[in-house]
Amino acid sequence: MDFRFSEEEEAFRKEVRDFLRKEWTLADYDLDTPEHWNAAKELEKKLGAKGWLCMAWPKEYGGLGASHMHQLVFQEEMASAHAPILDGQGVYMVGPCLMFQGTEEQRQRFLPPIAHSEVVWVQGFSEPNAGSDLASLQTRAVVDGDDYVVNGQKTWTTRAHRGDWIHLMVRTDPKAPKHRGISYLLVDMRSPGISINPIVNMTGRADYYEVYFDSVRVPKSNRVGQENQGWYVALTTLAFERSAIGAYVAQTRQVLQDLVQFARETKRNGQSLIEDPLIGGKLAELTIEIEVAQLLSHRIVWMASRGLMPNYEASVAKTFTTELQQRIANFGMHLLGLYGQLAEGSKWAALEGLIQFQYLWTVGVTIYAGSNEIQRNIIATRGLDLPRG
Ligand SMILES: Cc1cc2nc3c(=O)[nH]c(=O)nc-3n(C[C@H](O)[C@H](O)[C@H](O)COP(=O)(O)OP(=O)(O)OC[C@H]3O[C@@H](n4cnc5c(N)ncnc54)[C@H](O)[C@@H]3O)c2cc1C
Repeated sequence: MDFRFSEEEEAFRKEVRDFLRKEWTLADYDLDTPEHWNAAKELEKKLGAKGWLCMAWPKEYGGLGASHMHQLVFQEEMASAHAPILDGQGVYMVGPCLMFQGTEEQRQRFLPPIAHSEVVWVQGFSEPNAGSDLASLQTRAVVDGDDYVVNGQKTWTTRAHRGDWIHLMVRTDPKAPKHRGISYLLVDMRSPGISINPIVNMTGRADYYEVYFDSVRVPKSNRVGQENQGWYVALTTLAFERSAIGAYVAQTRQVLQDLVQFARETKRNGQSLIEDPLIGGKLAELTIEIEVAQLLSHRIVWMASRGLMPNYEASVAKTFTTELQQRIANFGMHLLGLYGQLAEGSKWAALEGLIQFQYLWTVGVTIYAGSNEIQRNIIATRGLDLPRG
């Protein structure tokens, strides 16, 4: 087993790092302001022009035909630089899903705009009464000529206000067993009949939205997979969502490094915080855990590079990494003391409010992409072959 990156991959890492040092100086947790969003969009367009955004995709779809390891190196460097990928849904979920499940016409139409950062995709899966039990979804689509007519409501749709397209799960056969009456549609967010309503979360931001569909017409040609087989298309998308965890590991490593730096530079009672054996010990423990998270995420990339579909392995990585994100944010809050509670913008805020934001934001990470309880069920049934409860 050789865990090292090749010389060529390391050279690419340096190229990406140097590029980002020049092109990105902001942090990715403040995409709320239009200035910040526009700056991030500009960066993403440059990445798209270089072919880096979806570099593992074939050239005809806007990629470079590069290896998954190169893609991982790119993701890690983006996360370390706190540089955001605005269209994570397109890059990590819709694109790979279409590669497996879409028609050639759909690939040619939808993949290049993702690779060139011309669109933002959002995810329309969850509903008020369908989260963990996603197959209970009720948003209805009825055939009318060459179109489906969609009526219903989605919720928790991240960045719906920025979305150009939504990948949507709808019920097309209410009489069939619930997993077998669902279809998967690609819907233009500017279609007449779509409206959105913000949900303000505890960071004070409106990152999530309710999305309403009132007789929205969607061409049948925008259906991915067979009618009533959308559940199986969604399983592919969800596996890719959990597999994108590598970016979060790199981001979390950066947060931990910021805490190490803080502990080195901050003195209490005449000595650096890092000299306190309890603090040093805790930072060492979290460093071990970050290494574990990285190996788990590298395993998934290694599987993808061999054409294997990550399954319970993605659930293992998602569960471990997201719970580690919470542990680091929690420890950070204790380490920073009372100033750690101040948000970015306050002149007294420690680490520019990074930990304050992480502490609130990471509450959601064990819920999205399927809650960690559900991931544990997947690990038990698919990984350990235990019976369903
Ligand atoms: C930050 C964030 C962003 C999100 N973005 C999107 C998005 O863009 N698009 C989208 O469609 N959705 C999105 N979601 C929604 C997310 O997918 C759901 O919140 C998640 O699937 C859980 O569903 P729920 O909230 O309805 O909770 P419920 O399903 O009601 O679960 C409540 C609790 O019960 C537990 N539970 C439920 N069933 C079981 C079981 N069988 N075994 C053990 N425990 C169980 C759950 O783990 C949870 O703790 C987002 C959520 C968050 C937090």
